[in-house]
Amino acid sequence: MSRPTAPLQAPLEIEFDYTRSLGPVLSQFMAALAERRILGARGADGRVHAPPFEYDPVSAEPPVALVPVGPDGTVVSWSWMPEPLAGQPLAEPFAWALIRLDGADTEMLHAVDAGSAAAMRTGLRVRPRWAARPAGGIRDIACFEPCDGPAGGPAAPAQDMRAERTPGMTIAPVRLHYLHTASPGETAYLRGLAEHRILGQRCGVCGQVYVPTRGTCPADGVTMTEQVELPESGTVTTFCVVNVGYPGQRVTPPYVAAAVLLDGADIAFQHLVLGCDASEVRMGMRVRAVWGESGGISHFTPTGEPDAEYEAYARCL
Ligand SMILES: [Zn+2]
Repeated sequence: MSRPTAPLQAPLEIEFDYTRSLGPVLSQFMAALAERRILGARGADGRVHAPPFEYDPVSAEPPVALVPVGPDGTVVSWSWMPEPLAGQPLAEPFAWALIRLDGADTEMLHAVDAGSAAAMRTGLRVRPRWAARPAGGIRDIACFEPCDGPAGGPAAPAQDMRAERTPGMTIAPVRLHYLHTASPGETAYLRGLAEHRILGQRCGVCGQVYVPTRGTCPADGVTMTEQVELPESGTVTTFCVVNVGYPGQRVTPPYVAAAVLLDGADIAFQHLVLGCDASEVRMGMRVRAVWGESGGISHFTPTGEPDAEYEAYARCL
C-alpha cells in the first residue's frame, strides 16, 4: 500500500578544490597576467590563439612561441547575465562576451562590465580591468570594460618558449549548488529509512523489485505503484576495497564499498560493509543493515550466516 506524501526536497551542495599543474604554456600565461600582460600562442598556420593553446589544433605540437596580445579587444559575441551567480566575476549584471584581443585570431570568453545590456554590442571595444592584487591566475583580469580607441595589435616581441618557467600549480574551487526534488517513490524510500524500514517498489509487468526505486521500471517503462517492504538482510554481490584517502573521509581506509542485494530485491545497491576486516569481505557474504543515529542505514555488517550460493545472486551481477 502506498500512502500519499508530499515529495521531499533538499538543497544539495557539492564542493571540492581541483588542484592541477598548469603545464609550461599556461604557467607562462598566468605569470604574465600577474604582470598585467596577456599572451597568446602562434599556431603552425600562423594564427594567434588567445588564450594560448597547450597543443596546436593543426599540428598537435606545443606552441613554439608565445606572443603578447591586447590588452584591448573587440566584442565578437555576447549574452547578458541579468542575475549573476555566486562565484561569477561580477556581482552586478554583466555580459559574458567572446572577445578578440588585438593581435589575436581567436576569441577569449570573459565578463564585460558595461552597466546595462543596452550598452553592449558586437564590435564594442573593451579593455581589461585588472585585479587590485594580481595572483597569477585568470582572475587577475577582474573583467573587461568598454573603452575608446581603435583596434591594433601591440608590437612587442614574441616570448621564446624554450625559456619556459617551471610549471606552476593552480587550485580551481568547484561548487555545485542545486535543489533536489525526490520522486514519489524515492520520497517513500527516504521517509521509510527514517522509520528504519526499507521500502522498494515492484513492477506490475515484470514483477521485479527495485530498491531504491526511481518510480518507473527501467525494463518496461511503466510507473510502479506497489510498495514492497524489504528485510534488512542481503548478500554482497560485488565489492571493492577502498585504499585511497581523501579530505573529509569518514571511514579510515582500507574499507569496503559493496553492491548489496537485499533479500527479495532484484537490483543491488551500493553501501559500506564494515564490522570486519576488509580482507574478509567476499562475494556471497551475508550482511545486514546497521541503522545510523540520524535514521538512515549507517552501513552493512556480516551476519555470520553461511555464504549465499553463487546462483542465488548471479543474475544481479
Ligand atoms: Zn518491469
